[in-house]
Formats: sequence, C-alpha cells, structure tokens
Amino acid sequence: MKIKKGDKVLVIAGKSKGKTSQVSKVVKSKNMVMVDDVNIFIKHVKGQGKVALQKPISSSNVKVICQSCSKPSRIGFKIENNKKVRYCRNCNAII
Ligand SMILES: [Zn+2]
Repeated sequence: MKIKKGDKVLVIAGKSKGKTSQVSKVVKSKNMVMVDDVNIFIKHVKGQGKVALQKPISSSNVKVICQSCSKPSRIGFKIENNKKVRYCRNCNAII
C-alpha cells in the first residue's frame, strides 16, 4: 500500500474522476482509501432526513500527487538510512 493518510491524491476513475482531495483514512486490509468529498452518498433516514454517507474507494483509483513537483506521480520505495521511504518516480523527491 503506497498511500498514506493525509496524502493529496487525484481521483482517476469513478464519478469523482479528475478531482483532487486529501486521504482521510486508509483501509489497508481492503486496499481502499477514504478521500475527502469523494464517493459521498445521500441516504434518507427516517426522522433524520438526509444523511451523508461516505464510502471508501479502491486505492488503484487514485494517484498520489507529489508535493515537490505537484504532479500525479508513481510512487516507488527505497531504503535510505535503513528506513523504507517513499519517493516520487517523477522527480525523485522523498514523499
Ligand atoms: Zn515529484
């Protein structure tokens, strides 16, 4: 799983395609992510009226936006100072 909570992402599939937002939650076991304002359903609940429900989307439907080059990029892993770090394959910056 290359996506972390707080990452800025671009949605590349589904009805929110093209939208950029922030990851609010990662569901590692299902490879899903919750992205702010993406995949919101309006449910009508008796007594409460309209209730907004958010569902996670597949992590393969989003691309992480690199803070360094501001482009949606592919993320790679490498070992630096004995630590596994993520880096942008576009500009090589550590994310
Ligand atoms: Zn970059």
